[in-house]
Amino acid sequence: MDLQSITNELKVRKEELESRNERTHKHTYQKEQPVSPNFNEQVKETENDALVMALEAEGVEELAQVNTALKRIEDGDYLNCAACGEDIGEERLHAIPYTDHCIKCAS
Ligand SMILES: [Zn+2]
Repeated sequence: MDLQSITNELKVRKEELESRNERTHKHTYQKEQPVSPNFNEQVKETENDALVMALEAEGVEELAQVNTALKRIEDGDYLNCAACGEDIGEERLHAIPYTDHCIKCAS
């Protein structure tokens, strides 16, 4: 298991998520433009806001998972399932680098 390359992958993902979360957060909470006076435009903006907020929630959650994985690598727990302590398995970690459960405990 090449932990170094997984660590690098996770760090890249972390940076991506952090900058994306910053953008979505700004979009949601620091509106520069006043709400459009046109009703149709308002509806579109509201829909867009909902999408961006969903995206942010998703990003925040994924970032938390990535951080947990990085911490687990640091602590030397990365390869073992958080529930049963068995090997998670290289194949599974490649597919889902931030999982902390083996396939048995995840299902
Ligand atoms: Zn397990």
